[in-house]
Amino acid sequence: MADCLFCRIAAGEIPAAVLAEDEDMLAFRDINPQAPVHLLAIPKRHIANTAASTEEDEALLGALLRFGCRVASEAGVAESGFRLVLNNGPDSGEAVPHLHLHILGGRRLGWPPG
Ligand code: AMP
Ligand code: ZN
Repeated sequence: MADCLFCRIAAGEIPAAVLAEDEDMLAFRDINPQAPVHLLAIPKRHIANTAASTEEDEALLGALLRFGCRVASEAGVAESGFRLVLNNGPDSGEAVPHLHLHILGGRRLGWPPG
């Protein structure tokens, strides 16, 4: 998707602070962090969001969760704890229509979320 921000980051066309990468996934720092650790993990292949995923995406969704946990560990929050967030649609505050997993940690996170 030529006009998709996160496709362009995945393609290296727009710079990002990349922390981890494999064949299918990329993790980089959120540009507007909401916690001391706030990373985004994305599949390089464009999927709009979790709700738009299909049966064909099941393996990729599982891999994204496992990749997010690996990145959280590398960011040093495996022991202290972290939150994985997948926003879907207007009420969630979703702003970028390319599937992305928020990885938040490094402070006590409130619940329920705002
Ligand atoms: P969401 O509200 O779930 O769609 O989250 C989108 C996230 O992308 C927000 O937390 C933004 O701060 C973040 N974001 C937007 N543009 C960039 C960018 N160029 N690099 C890194 N993070 C970004
Ligand atoms: Zn995209």
